[in-house]
Amino acid sequence: MRILISNDDGYLATGLSVLAESLAEFADISVVAPDKNRSAASNSLTLEMPLRAHESENGYIRVDGTPTDCVHLAITGLLDHEPDMVFAGINHGSNLGDDVLYSGTVAAATEGRFLGLPAVAISMASNDPKHFATAGKVAVTLLKKIIENPLPKDTLLNVNVPDVPYSELKGYQSTRLGQRHKAEPVIKSSDPRGSEIYWVGPPGKEQDAGPGTDFYAIKTGYVSITPLQLDLTRYDRMEEISQWLSQGNQE
Ligand code: MN
Repeated sequence: MRILISNDDGYLATGLSVLAESLAEFADISVVAPDKNRSAASNSLTLEMPLRAHESENGYIRVDGTPTDCVHLAITGLLDHEPDMVFAGINHGSNLGDDVLYSGTVAAATEGRFLGLPAVAISMASNDPKHFATAGKVAVTLLKKIIENPLPKDTLLNVNVPDVPYSELKGYQSTRLGQRHKAEPVIKSSDPRGSEIYWVGPPGKEQDAGPGTDFYAIKTGYVSITPLQLDLTRYDRMEEISQWLSQGNQE
């Protein structure tokens, strides 16, 4: 079993090395990760510039691109052997609800899935995580589960882990994505030369976060596992669109 590991926090992130060390006991691992923090890079590919890959002192390959670039490169020719599975993380911060559309961690897993491999994104549900080892154990547990029960095609797992010692976890829950309120306003400031600058504000507070959601599982001390699908089509609305297209002329 060969596992490709990537992240969006960069090749020096603690979460990345904990994930790599945890999975290395059970598989041949390769780590290909961005050379700096590319959180919230989503599924972006670098098309207008070449990419450079360098082996770092820790043996990880760092790439001057996005998480998606890293996984894309790794699977399509950078590595000598194609991996069997992709793990992304352990992210320094949660990826719950709407976050998955922005997340570079989820994007790295998505790229693995796009390219045909089972994939897992794993995140610590804390802004200042202390218990990465807990998520390392969760990753190993999931690896074993997935080997026994292969994931269907078009499916990846988005996993969030409470920031507590493993023995204090309440258990594991299968969840759906919750939702946040709309994002907080941008933060306006000025640079040292007096020009206006803006910081993208924090994500919105939880809105749809009741029982059954990823938010709720985390709040109540459970590991949240949300199966995600790549197909974003809203099938139950296709008929409605057909109907309004058939009413009157389109210009
Ligand atoms: Mn991140």
